[in-house]
Amino acid sequence: MTSMVAPQTGGAALDRRARTYQVRTYGCQMNVHDSERLSGLLEAAGYQRADEGADADVVVFNTCAVRENADNKLYGNLSHLAPRKHAEPDMQIAVGGCLAQKDRETVLRKAPWVDVVFGTHNIGSLPALLDRARHNRVAQVEIAEALQEFPSALPASRESSYAAWVSISVGCNNTCTFCIVPALRGKEVDRRPGDVLAEVRSLVDQGVLEITLLGQNVNAYGVSFADRDQPRDRGAFATLLRACGSIDGLERVRFTSPHPAEFTDDVIEAMAETPNVCPTLHMPLQSGSDRILRAMRRSYRAERYLGIIERVRAAIPHAAITTDLIVGFPGETEEDFQATLDVAAAARFATAFTFQYSKRPGTPAADLDGQIPKAVVSERYQRLIELQERISLEENAAQIGGTVELLVATGEGRKDASTARMSGRARDGRLVHFAPGGTEQIRPGDIVVTTVTGAAPHHLIADATLIEHRRTRAGDAHAAGRKPRTGVGLGMPGLGAPEARPEAVGCTR
Ligand code: SF4
Repeated sequence: MTSMVAPQTGGAALDRRARTYQVRTYGCQMNVHDSERLSGLLEAAGYQRADEGADADVVVFNTCAVRENADNKLYGNLSHLAPRKHAEPDMQIAVGGCLAQKDRETVLRKAPWVDVVFGTHNIGSLPALLDRARHNRVAQVEIAEALQEFPSALPASRESSYAAWVSISVGCNNTCTFCIVPALRGKEVDRRPGDVLAEVRSLVDQGVLEITLLGQNVNAYGVSFADRDQPRDRGAFATLLRACGSIDGLERVRFTSPHPAEFTDDVIEAMAETPNVCPTLHMPLQSGSDRILRAMRRSYRAERYLGIIERVRAAIPHAAITTDLIVGFPGETEEDFQATLDVAAAARFATAFTFQYSKRPGTPAADLDGQIPKAVVSERYQRLIELQERISLEENAAQIGGTVELLVATGEGRKDASTARMSGRARDGRLVHFAPGGTEQIRPGDIVVTTVTGAAPHHLIADATLIEHRRTRAGDAHAAGRKPRTGVGLGMPGLGAPEARPEAVGCTR
C-alpha cells in the first residue's frame, strides 16, 4: 500500500553533486543487516555515504519497536532534525523498520516534516519513495503487510571486509507473548538454499572469512517450503550448515538464533562434524521456570533446554554457550525467578544477555495480570547479573594458558589505544584483547594465534608473544578500504560484518 499523506514544503532544484545519506540503526541484528541493504540500495541509486560527523542530505531511521521508549527516542530524534529540515527543504528524512510498520501514518501525524515512512517489507522501495517525495513534494507512506521479495535479493553495502550476515529466513511463526516481531515481520519466509549458498560464496570470493546465518528461528528453516510438493524437511538447517562446510575459503560459520523447541540433534552433529562451524551456540532460554515459559508461550521446558546443551557439550566439549534471559515477566514469583537462577547456574553460560521485562504495547504480555513492580524487577535483575558475572569470570579464567585463534576485528576494543593492544574474536566467539608485538603490521581481517594470559567477565587478555600471524585477503580488503557488496541491482554480490553483537532485544529471541 502506498499513500500520499502530508504536503511538504517546497525547495530549490536538485543540485548535481551526489546526494549523501546516513542510516541510523536501532535494535537487533535483523535491523543491522537491513541497514546494510538500505545502504546498498541507496548507493545503487547514486547516493554516497555521508562522512562521519557531516550533515547528510538524506537521513534514514531504521527503527526498533522492541526496546523500551523506542517511540519517544525516535520522535525526540525527529524533533531534533525539524529545524534543519525547515531551513533546508531538500534534505529528506525517512523512517523505516519495526516502529514504522507499527505506527504507520502516526509517524507523519507526530512529525509532519518526515518525507518517507516505509515498512519492514518495503525496504526495496526506499530510493523510489525518496524520489517521489522530492518530486511531488508530498510525503510517501508505503507499508506492505507481507513480504513481496526476499530482502537478500536487494543490494547490500556491507559494514565489514571480513565478516558478514547472511539471511536465511525472515519472519517468525511463533507467538511468544512478549514479542512484537511476528506482528511486524510476519510469517516465516525461508530463502532457498541455493540462494543462501550463492550469497555466501560471493562474500567469500570478495575476501570474507566469517559468515553468520541469520533468522528469527533458524531451526525452523525450511518450514515455508513444505506446502509445495514435499513434506517439511526437518533436517534442512543441518544440511545448510554442512553445505557451508564445503565452501573453500570460508573459515568461520556462525548462526543466530536457534529456538530450543525445534532444536534437533542433527544440528549438533552438523556443528560437530563441520570444521568451519564455530564451537559456539547462542540459544535463548528467557526463563528457567516452566510456568513462566508456558505464560511466554515458549513450548520447551527447562529440562529440555538443559538436555540440549548437555548434548552440545558432549559433542563439542569447548563450545561457548550464550543465552538471553528476561527477568520480571508478568506473574513471575520469587520461586520462578529462583528457577531461572538455578538453570543459569546449571547451564554455566559463557555470557547471558539479560533484560528487565517492561511492557511493549501490542504484545499479549502487555495485558497480562501480575505485572511486577519495577523495584522488584531491578532487584532480581541485579541478583541474576551477579550470578552470571561470577560464572562468566570463572569460565573465562578457565581459558588462561589456552591457545586461541583470533579473527582480528575493528572497533571491539575501546581501550586498545591506551593499552597498545588489538582485539579479535576467538572461534568460540569470546572477545580477546591481545598484544600485537613484533614489527609486522596486523590488520583487521587477519588471523592471529596467541595464548590467553588473563580474564574478565566479558573478555580475555592475551599479552603473550604471538604464536602466528596470518595475513588474509580480508585483511588486504580492509587495508584497501574495500567492503563487500551483495545482491542484484549492483550487478555483483558483496560482503558484510557482524561480531559486535548488537543488543539482542526481541527479534533474536
Ligand atoms: S521471541 Fe523469537 S521465536 Fe518468539 S515470537 Fe519473537 S522472534 Fe519468534
